[in-house]
Amino acid sequence: MNPLHSTFIEHQLSGRYICNTHIEPLLSAYNTTVIGHSETGLPIYRICVGAGKTKVLMWSQMHGNESTTTKSVFDLLRFLQSDKSLIEPLQLSIIPILNPDGAKSYNRFNANQVDLNRDAIDLSQVESRILRKEFDEFSPDYAFNLHDQRTIFGVEAKPATLSLLAPALDKERSFNDCRNKAAQLAASVFQGLQSSSIASQIGRFDDQFNPNCVGDAFQSLGVPTLLIEAGHYQDDYHREKTRTFVFDAYVLALQAIGTSNFSDFSIYHSIPQNKKIFFDYLFRNVHYVDRGKEKTGDVGLQYKEVLNSNQIEFHPVFTAAGDLSKAYGHIEPNCENLEPFVFKIEESAQNLLKSLNL
Ligand SMILES: [Zn+2]
Repeated sequence: MNPLHSTFIEHQLSGRYICNTHIEPLLSAYNTTVIGHSETGLPIYRICVGAGKTKVLMWSQMHGNESTTTKSVFDLLRFLQSDKSLIEPLQLSIIPILNPDGAKSYNRFNANQVDLNRDAIDLSQVESRILRKEFDEFSPDYAFNLHDQRTIFGVEAKPATLSLLAPALDKERSFNDCRNKAAQLAASVFQGLQSSSIASQIGRFDDQFNPNCVGDAFQSLGVPTLLIEAGHYQDDYHREKTRTFVFDAYVLALQAIGTSNFSDFSIYHSIPQNKKIFFDYLFRNVHYVDRGKEKTGDVGLQYKEVLNSNQIEFHPVFTAAGDLSKAYGHIEPNCENLEPFVFKIEESAQNLLKSLNL
């Protein structure tokens, strides 16, 4: 863990399940306002920090089950309280949990089962309108769109612990001054992390244009927008290690903005594209029974994240079988002498892991 981050970690937040009840005890330490209520009436908070001239809007957990960037927000807030130099030129408006209903039920969607990151044009949901109102009234110079990505993403043969994107602003995925600025911001984060242990675990997210995605919408409205996706780090399913790299990413991005000292735009294009190439477990060359037929091949398992008594449980399920030679497993068990087992998509793989003492 980086020594800077470990000093400022907000120990009251940990694990994957983070909702309003977790952050509410922390809010009185900050300049917090309720800027509206969710579809079921839960408060949506905004924290303001700094009085500098460059304005940055950050929002986290628009997807309710994507909490890592929220933990890092509170680590950042603690850091900003003790180190005034970073915040001096800046003014931040931070919405730590935009989708409190989804956060409560550990769900990507809001209470009406709408993906808020596909609602930028329609603004059909109250949470989308609250974010848009904050965007219009605060009138940021930069925007940070904060998410988690699944463990399936990798960079080459390694997990993608962070993914960055300067979202597209049109179908042609063209670059104008605004998108170039966002790319430079991503480049500053990427370059700053080259001395860390995730130097080769940072990917560039797919930039297909979708005007209903909030990042794409804000970018096309002329505000440089950076997407940060927190991802998997080796053995870190609770994303406590990943949160430290997200914290670093925030500090690096805010430093670049505050000092107007950005990395070169060409570095952005050198960031390798992330790909969906990982399983949580990959069993290579095993015997399995699929729809009554015995086969030999590879079998992939993914964890399903299940909320149970305010804790996230990780339930392994079978997701793919066949030739998975181009994929990787975060864990690739030794399967010599493994008896043939039944493969059934979505079926629990708990017994298989048990038989291997995993
Ligand atoms: Zn997301």
